[in-house]
Amino acid sequence: MSERPDVRAAHLPARPEPPRQLYDHDHTFGVAHDLERMRAGLPPSPRAPRIRTRAARRGGGPLAATRSWWANREHGPADIWHRFRCRTGHHDFRGGDQLQLGARFVYVERRCQWCDARPLP
Ligand SMILES: [Zn+2]
Repeated sequence: MSERPDVRAAHLPARPEPPRQLYDHDHTFGVAHDLERMRAGLPPSPRAPRIRTRAARRGGGPLAATRSWWANREHGPADIWHRFRCRTGHHDFRGGDQLQLGARFVYVERRCQWCDARPLP
């Protein structure tokens, strides 16, 4: 028996060359690029200017200090408003009706939702 001819290899086109770099030299970045420039006798390339980001803009300042101080407080501006309303006698009464919880009916006492004050009888 003779060898079978390699038909497939005869019909395949030649393998394409790998893509070449621009200007026929390997491109370098960062420290390697600086090293290449030093070998060529050139100074290192100038650095890009630092771009201010949002995080850098947010930090510092009396407004940020006030904001963080208030963020650690227990009460916000809405709580101060409700406290003022309750102090002046304008309570926000809720309840006084039945509420169904599952199979049971619960009577919800009528109270101010901000300071738990009962309405006058
Ligand atoms: Zn109240």
